[in-house]
Amino acid sequence: MKFDGLIGNSGIKKTLERPFHAYIIHGPKGSGKHTLANILTAALVCESDEKPCGKCSQCKKFQTGNHIDITYCPTDIKVKELREKLKDASYLPNDAEHRVFVFDQAEKLSTVCQNALLKIVEEPPKHAVFIFITENSKAILQTLRSRCEALSMEPIDEKELVNYLQKPEFARISEEKKAAAVAFSGGYIGVAKDFLSDEKTELYRRCDAFATALAKKKPAELLRAVTFKKREDLAEFSTELYEYFTVHLRSLKTGSTTGLNADVRALGPRRLVSICTRLDDINEKLRFNVNTSLFSTLIVSECYSACWRYS
Ligand SMILES: [Zn+2]
Repeated sequence: MKFDGLIGNSGIKKTLERPFHAYIIHGPKGSGKHTLANILTAALVCESDEKPCGKCSQCKKFQTGNHIDITYCPTDIKVKELREKLKDASYLPNDAEHRVFVFDQAEKLSTVCQNALLKIVEEPPKHAVFIFITENSKAILQTLRSRCEALSMEPIDEKELVNYLQKPEFARISEEKKAAAVAFSGGYIGVAKDFLSDEKTELYRRCDAFATALAKKKPAELLRAVTFKKREDLAEFSTELYEYFTVHLRSLKTGSTTGLNADVRALGPRRLVSICTRLDDINEKLRFNVNTSLFSTLIVSECYSACWRYS
């Protein structure tokens, strides 16, 4: 199989040398799940020797989203509808060698739907292949998971990522900002690219302002940093803030300082671990259960007490 556009991930590339009938592609946002799913789907229908060739009529149909043997199933699908679609799986493909069924955000499939899928994945028709894409594979029934080949997206080498960001499309971005993106990415290209978009830069600036205010014990500035009009924006900020502190915590181990905030690193591992734990808790349990103003107050008070309670 040809993996143009998928950097690193040698484990996955090796696994895919052996054909299988069901895959779960999982990894965090920005880790390349969809890039891989597209390569795999195209390869399953491509008629050239080196798959996917990107040139044959099957590949062309895939690229334009018009391949009759590829079915993209919405994850809010009702089980009756899903069963209807799955009936096709037992027929021979129309054009290609396989019939491919793709489920994006598979963790959102209802339990009845997952059970319906389990039946067919257990005894798959010869030509059918199922691809499940998810950020959270644990939300998929264990019985279904165990019948799929798990493809876990791997973070790539820092050097490879630095090289990638030398591409002309990133030419207008400063080296300093690129270094921050690499530090922030956790080794995932999509995260680094996302970080370099203007919107994300603004969000990162807010996290930085929050963390600086926390490190310097400035409550008024802390409150200003968590003032958002929309609840979704606050939720996104809170997730990003957790990432922000995780990156700084990780940097204490790796010793990398480029693009990072010295005041925040100076808080030391004990405080940073404590902040990350509290934020993780808030994000897990509370982000959907409390109103916006309580949510922002919690972020401030929890972080402040995690950081300064014992000093
Ligand atoms: Zn092809």
